[in-house]
Amino acid sequence: MRKFNFCAGPAALPEPVLRQAQQELLDWGGRGCSVMEVSHRSAEFLEVAERAEQDLRDLLSIPDNYKVLFLQGGATAQFSAVPWNLFGVGDKVADYIHSGQWADKAIREAKRYGQVNIVASGEDRSFTYAPGAESWTQSDNAAYFHYTPNETIGGVEFDYVPDVTCPLVADMSSNILSRPIPVEKFGVIYAGAQKNIGPSGIAVGIVRDDLLDRAMEGIPRSLSWKVAAEAGSMDNTPPTFAWYLAGLVFRWLKGQGGVEAMSTLADRKSTLLYEFIDRSDFYSCPVEKSSRSRMNVPFVLADERLDKEFLRQSEEAGLLNLKGHRSVGGMRASLYNAVPLEAVEALVSFMADFEKRCA
Ligand SMILES: *Cc1c(COP(=O)(O)O)cnc(C)c1O
Repeated sequence: MRKFNFCAGPAALPEPVLRQAQQELLDWGGRGCSVMEVSHRSAEFLEVAERAEQDLRDLLSIPDNYKVLFLQGGATAQFSAVPWNLFGVGDKVADYIHSGQWADKAIREAKRYGQVNIVASGEDRSFTYAPGAESWTQSDNAAYFHYTPNETIGGVEFDYVPDVTCPLVADMSSNILSRPIPVEKFGVIYAGAQKNIGPSGIAVGIVRDDLLDRAMEGIPRSLSWKVAAEAGSMDNTPPTFAWYLAGLVFRWLKGQGGVEAMSTLADRKSTLLYEFIDRSDFYSCPVEKSSRSRMNVPFVLADERLDKEFLRQSEEAGLLNLKGHRSVGGMRASLYNAVPLEAVEALVSFMADFEKRCA
């Protein structure tokens, strides 16, 4: 029996997608083999690849002057790819918002190649909020401006898109496809798949055409967006099964009503959980209200000695993977698109019950 899964990543996948993959696993569309066992250059796989791209374009209303890339190395490879691809023209200077642990990793990598200006940081309050635009000091010569719209570990989500004068780059790994986004305001969007897109092993890049010609000399071929764009993301063998599964997720999303429907659902799910936590004296969420993530909800118990018991009993109740990130402790419930409302209802009901028994 499938249980409710709140894992931060690799995360829950929609059950109908898994069922379709299961059904097609041995004999894909009557071909007598699996989708994993055909050439990535075959007509039949190219159709899978192109359909996935088109569905993603439809879901996010991606304008024609943006390339959609299917990349390898996860979001982490993009931490390096961003400076490699954008520092080749002008000064090697970039603005970064330091909003938590993922932003920190992106910053550390960019510093290897150029000068990083931290235009705003949430460090003064332990990364429990998204710094507002009024606090910035943007550089006038930055090659790009990077931020992390949703900090998966801290549970901090920006409720606005920064307005900047240079290309805006966003690591959308944990909240892509959870709401409509104005793609035209971005230069580059990237996201590892294993939160809201599909299984791990593939990442998506959305890159404005004019940014394909700014790479530093000596860029590793495997990090080049231009090479990927010219090769249809097949300069080398792509992770075909992950690509196929991501495509099934895009199809499923369209059937669910697209990103507008996902946004409404994300509101309902996260509001249910946050309101319950705020009403309780036993549970609390450290994140400031205006910056609370709809995807990752961190919370702590009044007595951390009960953590182990909470995790044991929640698992017994069929609620999986609620343990917080090892660096922050406590609990974290990730409520990505594939997590149904019933899962959150079951979680809240369990939490109320646990509080009654143990508080
Ligand atoms: C998970 C995550 C990453 C890391 O992704 P990998 O695919 O493991 O490299 C980076 N940024 C954010 C915001 C994430 O949630």
